[in-house]
Amino acid sequence: CLPLTACQKQQKLYSATWFDLFDTVAIVQGYADSQDSWNAQAQAVYSDLQRYNELFDIYHHYDGVINLYDVNARAAAAPVQVSDELYAFLRWCKDAAYPAANGATNIAAGAVLRLWHDARESDSPAPPDADAIAAALAHIDIEDLVLDDAAQTVYFADPEMALDVGAVGKGYTADLVTEILRRHGVSSALISLGGNIQAIGSRPDGSDWRLGIRAPWESGNLGVLTVSDAAVVTSGGYENYFDDGQGNIYWHILDPSTGYPADNGLQSVTIVGREGKMCDALSTALFVMGAQSAEQYWRENGGFEMLLVTDSGEILITEGIAENFTLNEGRTETVRVLQAAG
Ligand code: ADP
Ligand code: MG
Repeated sequence: CLPLTACQKQQKLYSATWFDLFDTVAIVQGYADSQDSWNAQAQAVYSDLQRYNELFDIYHHYDGVINLYDVNARAAAAPVQVSDELYAFLRWCKDAAYPAANGATNIAAGAVLRLWHDARESDSPAPPDADAIAAALAHIDIEDLVLDDAAQTVYFADPEMALDVGAVGKGYTADLVTEILRRHGVSSALISLGGNIQAIGSRPDGSDWRLGIRAPWESGNLGVLTVSDAAVVTSGGYENYFDDGQGNIYWHILDPSTGYPADNGLQSVTIVGREGKMCDALSTALFVMGAQSAEQYWRENGGFEMLLVTDSGEILITEGIAENFTLNEGRTETVRVLQAAG
């Protein structure tokens, strides 16, 4: 050991990858004393991830669990009693995420999100009918999501309403798993659920974690962001989209005010903050708002940092993380730092 550094057992970096969670790739990396102790931790993480994956799944029913598929199927007929975990999540979505996102991230927008999901899944994808979109937009009012704290039930005051938590479920889950790992004494790990990354601590030598920021529509990275103890959540059009065969691309992030894919000048939004769940809610919301409103939102609200990639290949980065980002060699994007003072 060097003087002044804690003498620890030599720890090695381990990782585990799963392909059956949240429709994406889940990776956990961490330092452990041995393969056995790592395996035990990874297994505990996997079973938690699996439970939240089931609870938040709107496409499948699971025996012995009341999840969002069941809520969507039954909550218009009568209040559905749900577990503490699912109830707390829905409360947070309605009371914290929705207002923080100025309504741009709306879990009650399932009626219109469903139309686009079906379009993406179809063999010859085409945008849904304008009439169908307009009709669905009449049924996305979050006030119709009725939560009863005493009975712990969920009820839809509008029978055409449906929930879709794709915009916040992964960030929320990453927070819960982070908390569990910390409680188990893990002080150095990375959790990645699709674009949702949670860094626990720093690397054992005290240096920051190095995260690649994806280049939209390419396989490589734009650059590297260094962080410790933070959530880093990216929303991008390139993540999930369809092409109508005539050169038009329709991606999965919708503007709830129009019912169409948000197209406000951004290719991706990365939010860096303390809580994965709020970063996830904001990554979607700021993508919907567009660069100018996102910048204004950041100035007015603060509490997080962000990196925006615009349609014209500009990278806008807030001053708090500007020093932590390095553009990869050979990239042609320009980087502009956003100052809080304007
Ligand atoms: P990703 O899932 O790629 O991490 P997001 O966090 O932005 O990206 O979530 C996108 C998903 O959230 C979509 O696939 C859809 O299920 C849902 N969604 C899209 N737009 C909205 C919106 N404006 N409000 C709420 N949910 C949305
Ligand atoms: Mg999101």
